[in-house]
Amino acid sequence: MSELFVLPLNESEYLVYAPLRGAALIANAALVRFLQSPNAGEGTSDISAEVLAWLRKAGIVGGAAERAPATRLTGPPRPRVVTLLLTSACNLRCAYCYAASGDAPATFMGAETARRAIDFVAANAAEAGASSFEVNYHGAGEPTQHWVRLQESHLYAEDVAQAKGLRLRSSVTTNGVLNDAQRAWIAAHLDGATVSFDGLPEMQDVNRRRASGGGSSEAVLTTLRAFDRAGFRYSIRMTATAESLARLPQSVAFICRRFRPHAIQVEPLYRMGRGRDRVSAETAAFVEAFRAARRTSGKAARLLRFSGARLGTVTNRFCGVANDNFCVSPGGNISACYEVADERQPWAERFFYGRPAATGPGYDFDERVYTGLRAQTVERREYCRGCFAKWQCAGDCFRKSLDADATEFAGAGRCEIIRELTKDQLLEKIAGSGGVWWKGAPRRTGLEGPDGPEANAT
Ligand code: SF4
Ligand code: SF4
Repeated sequence: MSELFVLPLNESEYLVYAPLRGAALIANAALVRFLQSPNAGEGTSDISAEVLAWLRKAGIVGGAAERAPATRLTGPPRPRVVTLLLTSACNLRCAYCYAASGDAPATFMGAETARRAIDFVAANAAEAGASSFEVNYHGAGEPTQHWVRLQESHLYAEDVAQAKGLRLRSSVTTNGVLNDAQRAWIAAHLDGATVSFDGLPEMQDVNRRRASGGGSSEAVLTTLRAFDRAGFRYSIRMTATAESLARLPQSVAFICRRFRPHAIQVEPLYRMGRGRDRVSAETAAFVEAFRAARRTSGKAARLLRFSGARLGTVTNRFCGVANDNFCVSPGGNISACYEVADERQPWAERFFYGRPAATGPGYDFDERVYTGLRAQTVERREYCRGCFAKWQCAGDCFRKSLDADATEFAGAGRCEIIRELTKDQLLEKIAGSGGVWWKGAPRRTGLEGPDGPEANAT
């Protein structure tokens, strides 16, 4: 029997969705009644042979047994991807910074800390017979503010890769306020970047101001132009505030007209850090602004993303938190979450699961903590059980769920956004396949390493 969800569209039509089959169709009430009956899939007098054949072709009934995504991690973590959280220092003072960067004295990663982590993931890759390992640079602050360590650790990783006959992959998440030498170096040495940028210069400048005062848009625009000239692959990460939502379509159109990003991800601001007391943007207005932004051009429709709405993927994990995400804090300890980069932060005890080994290379891991994190999959979340988006959203961000009790989280604005945008994607797929049914081939993913949808959140 399929896991089937039925969503009313209007008085006479329903959207029927079988997420594990990657199949959906538009049905009337009689067809819905049949599909919800215990003998759906069998030839019965309730339905003609012709309709049954059509349901089989659409992938809604029959075929191979459904298989839910499962987690198979055992033993201590053996990551092949490391995210170095180089520093909490930042050259901006964004009004909504989740890390409140600049409010506390900055911390910086030492050379040995970076080397230990690189040695560890490279050795794991070699042992597993993999062809590559990955070194990424990310906040708590702005990683390029620890430029010496970024360059030096990358050079070290290149040497390690060469010595082991492995390929090195590397990327940075940056606010884009760089100098020319940094732009050129990044484009020449890294495989990709995520640039935090809010679109229209006036929107960027009001929320993302320099620590020294003044707006940051000019510098980021120069960075994007430099990346495009170099043919460098980058994505843009936009933050929408309640105040900026009305201009989201213009901001997205501005980016699409001028630049060539690989993707544009937009998220409502996180109400934590300096954004804690801001008005929520996790609202119906966000959904409308997102839809309007997609309508501004074919390019915008193709590039625009929201983290929880990802039709085409079937997974039980929202991000790498449940998959041994390996983020090294400036102090050298291991956190599973990019947003919990400081050992004194709230919830640190839930996310920090390792520290440099007491003797020798590698790390000592806390089995209780990493086992608890591996269990953060959607099938363990009671409030997600009846949600049609559960195998795409996969329970949303664990870090954010800790700030809300389960009931509040289940009805939270983000859930509404995820469900509305996932429904849009389904209807678009159906429309693009003739208007009645759609059958896709969803990518089953274990989200290896730190490539969760919010890996680029700054
Ligand atoms: S209930 Fe909310 S968090 Fe859970 S799967 Fe649905 S949209 Fe995601
Ligand atoms: S999605 Fe949430 S839990 Fe996962 S890394 Fe990002 S902030 Fe942390």
